[in-house]
Amino acid sequence: MKAFGFAAQSAESQLAPFSFERRAPRPEDVSIDILFCGICHSDIHSARNEWGGTRYPYVPGHEIIGRVSAVGDKVTKYKAGDLVGVGCLVDSCRHCASCYDGLEQYCENGFTATYNSEDRIGGTPHKFTLGGYADKVVVDERFVLRIPDNLDPAAAAPLLCAGVTTYSPLKHWKVGAGQKVGIIGLGGLGHMGVKFAHAMGAHVVMITTSPAKGQDAKKLGADDVLISKDADAMAKAAGTFDFLLNTIPVGHDTDPYMNLLKRDGTMVIVGAVETLTHASGVPFIFKRRSMAGSLIGGLPETQEMLAFCGEHNIVCDIETIAMNDVNTAYDRTVAGDVKYRFVIDMATLSEAAGAAIAASR
Ligand code: NAP
Ligand code: ZN
Ligand code: ZN
Repeated sequence: MKAFGFAAQSAESQLAPFSFERRAPRPEDVSIDILFCGICHSDIHSARNEWGGTRYPYVPGHEIIGRVSAVGDKVTKYKAGDLVGVGCLVDSCRHCASCYDGLEQYCENGFTATYNSEDRIGGTPHKFTLGGYADKVVVDERFVLRIPDNLDPAAAAPLLCAGVTTYSPLKHWKVGAGQKVGIIGLGGLGHMGVKFAHAMGAHVVMITTSPAKGQDAKKLGADDVLISKDADAMAKAAGTFDFLLNTIPVGHDTDPYMNLLKRDGTMVIVGAVETLTHASGVPFIFKRRSMAGSLIGGLPETQEMLAFCGEHNIVCDIETIAMNDVNTAYDRTVAGDVKYRFVIDMATLSEAAGAAIAASR
């Protein structure tokens, strides 16, 4: 199937127009016309090969919202015209303990990511999966999600990654009423963490490096704001948090944050894959604290999160952009200059295509 999108050709290159072939739809496949795709910081880490292992040409995008254009003979859950979503996963082994538990993100044989993964079945013209900064995508129905009708489709796009990545640990560690919860970093993930923790009934504190974001954090549902660069304020808040969700996108010293936890408190890392430093075992040993990690969410939990959003009318705060502005949006995301997620309007892709064709003449 012919497709058109934007790709990076190397770690140094900007994203630019790219024509490619998607696989021919299989009987289990849903063909989707993409309407919107969010820009996750992970798209940028991968485009710039900051985590290593990016295969080029690379088409980013795993916060996909679209309409079903066609379904294969064996598809039972979807029909043409349905509003659907696709997140970070498009396949997994389906028979390991994690897959049985609906935790495909922890597939013991390795999940197939929406981009930069090998198609485990084969038959894809392009050896590696290509993401959602494109006009179309073809996905097995098991990895397609239904979007509640009452949610704005553009603002729902980032739920597919930023949403479930924050919802999942809040649920797993049973965050709720009577708890003081800190969300560290007010970006795409952090702003959803605040909304979810608030909706779950917790007392929510936004922990940010940016004092200017304080007012916004309160509008999003934070009860208080703690500036992490203010050593006095951090010292005063020591030992008071039940749970911390840490979305900082780079390696950092975890001690100042761990010290905020009460006895038996947990800090969950979702952002940094780089080295985390801590001076000693003291913040862990004294007060029996834990540090843990969490990866996106499985398909059942993603559908549960979407239902929760439908019920509580929760969507993301977004800035919609044209495809041609994607490179500027990358720089602005890295600079923390977005409130709080960029979403690409795929209706602007044909304009970008026209400009590309004109430039090549
Ligand atoms: P983002 O929109 O860029 O937000 C990150 C926020 O972290 C920034 O807005 C900033 O908030 C804070 N921050 C940035 N640099 C910092 C530093 N050096 N020290 C302290 N705080 C800093 O990114 P995102 O899309 O939310 O993603 C966050 C991270 O999660 C990325 O690394 C991404 O790859 C990762 N991720 C993980 C998963 C998973 O499954 N675990 C899923 C999706 C994304 P303040 O201005 O408020 O300080
Ligand atoms: Zn993501
Ligand atoms: Zn598996």
